[in-house]
Amino acid sequence: MSFSEKVFRDPVHNYVHVNHEIIYQLINTKEFQRLRRIKQLGTSSFTFHGAEHSRFSHSLGVYEIARRITERFEQKYNSKQLTDGWQAEETMVTLIAALLHDIGHGAYSHTFEHLFFTDHEQFTQEIITSDETEVGRLLRQFDPLLPEKVAAVISHDYPNPQVVGLISSQIDADRMDYLLRDAYFTGATYGNFDLTRILRVIRPHKTGIVFKHSGMHAIEDYIVSRYQMYMQVYFHQASRSMEVILSHLLKRAKAIFTDNIQYFELTSPKLIPFFQNNFTLLDYLALDDSVLNCYFETWTTHSDIILSDLADRFINRKVFKSVTFKSEDNLKPLIANIEAVGFDTNYYTAVHSSFDLPYDFYRPKSINPRTEIEMIESDGTLAELSTLSPIVKALTGVKSGDTRFFFPKEMIIGQNSLFETEIQAFQAQIINGRLKEI
Ligand code: ZN
Repeated sequence: MSFSEKVFRDPVHNYVHVNHEIIYQLINTKEFQRLRRIKQLGTSSFTFHGAEHSRFSHSLGVYEIARRITERFEQKYNSKQLTDGWQAEETMVTLIAALLHDIGHGAYSHTFEHLFFTDHEQFTQEIITSDETEVGRLLRQFDPLLPEKVAAVISHDYPNPQVVGLISSQIDADRMDYLLRDAYFTGATYGNFDLTRILRVIRPHKTGIVFKHSGMHAIEDYIVSRYQMYMQVYFHQASRSMEVILSHLLKRAKAIFTDNIQYFELTSPKLIPFFQNNFTLLDYLALDDSVLNCYFETWTTHSDIILSDLADRFINRKVFKSVTFKSEDNLKPLIANIEAVGFDTNYYTAVHSSFDLPYDFYRPKSINPRTEIEMIESDGTLAELSTLSPIVKALTGVKSGDTRFFFPKEMIIGQNSLFETEIQAFQAQIINGRLKEI
């Protein structure tokens, strides 16, 4: 029986078109539906309240971009006519990898990973290849070799560089979707760029994916958008502050777990395998943002003052304040003051760094060399993007971001007569959000 096209209405791409039954079935698996309950931007919605969009919508968006690109490749650059063209039989694995590339993301992934040593990329591979998941079983039923092929695309081991480049490179379907989607939902327009133009100038090449020279300004704009989104949205200090509070909250729960086993069994059972560092794939899949938020809300009444206070700060968005600084040595008197006021600095302070490299050319000696963006001339010669664009050149190889020291807001705005001296001494060291050089 033939499959009739399904469409999903999408604010970024207008329609997401599903033309294959296997894609539709994958969307309907419980592992994929779980992505509806995981926010794409984690704690960023505490800063940009519109950013409540899910990994589900992003994953559909990445699939749709990959679908548009492969459709054009099949029509215009088919390997039947072009020696280094697109092989139509690669389309399905590309679409599935695009759809499933984030399937292993968990609730508040980055914070959670750091504390419980989970790895979302590894979980993505496991969910795709496991017989315990609906996704894994479906893929294997469709083609016994498919799970391993899709997993190889995700881990960059797939032999065809065109497929890998579309899913994971400095300009891939993933990044193109999240920049546009995050710009749309945060309301910050920095992330906007001309996707339609990029989709017209992208083409397959024996080295991977390249772009026609005539599309240079659209690519340039994409790189600048990426840079601005990191600086203005992803690295916002209030979101990072909430990430710090979340991390300390989970750390506290883990620390007091053994003395409160019954309490956690009753109120937050799904976290126990992680406190005990003995979890399975199914334990991981049982968690999502709603489950964790429900636990945090319950913890606000726990008798442990640190746990309940941090839970209250997280649930009710009581952000930590932060300052930039030159040397960690200069933080010592600040930390001493915070301690004197009665805060446990293990749970109420943090040094947090956020850095990003907007673009880089291929550096074979670097630990993680990047595949560069190549522009193709009409005579077939290739040129690396930063050699053509002075704007991109200015951003190439330059890391941007900062390291901040986070502390409770009370240290700068609370007035407590008992500790006035300490608080005044603390405040005296901070000028315009920066730590005074000592
Ligand atoms: Zn993604």
